[in-house]
Amino acid sequence: MTKMNAEARQRLDAAGISLAEWSRRHSASTAWHGDKCGCPDDRCIGYHHDPSEPCQCLPALIRDYETEKRSSAEAAVIWAEFQAAQDSADTDGLSRVHDQTANWVDRYQGQGVTSWSLTEQVNGRAGITITNCFNNQRWLVWAAERQY
Ligand SMILES: [Zn+2]
Ligand SMILES: [Zn+2]
Repeated sequence: MTKMNAEARQRLDAAGISLAEWSRRHSASTAWHGDKCGCPDDRCIGYHHDPSEPCQCLPALIRDYETEKRSSAEAAVIWAEFQAAQDSADTDGLSRVHDQTANWVDRYQGQGVTSWSLTEQVNGRAGITITNCFNNQRWLVWAAERQY
């Protein structure tokens, strides 16, 4: 097993991500199985970049992770408001939730989305689901019980 180098640890630290959290994101364990530079690919140094060059993978992956955490946190808020509005049959609340969800889908799900739903499930799992122009499937893009 490779030990992560000091530079990579500092980068994660600066982003508020623990080594265990970063490891678990990329493998089933809290032990690090990636390369020294913090890339989950254990053959990053010498393959993705020269040993003398800084890793480009790590900062990009950290940014992705932060975006994912942010989108997930925002989705959780939308979901809670959706449940509350539904429970109290609050039509103003539902229309607010509608706008927020449209906004969220716009920001985080990118191009090609043709519809979204808070009530349609995928394989019995509730959350935010979308359809897109690339295929005829419905996708669960945020699962209601997901926690970070
Ligand atoms: Zn890499
Ligand atoms: Zn690297």
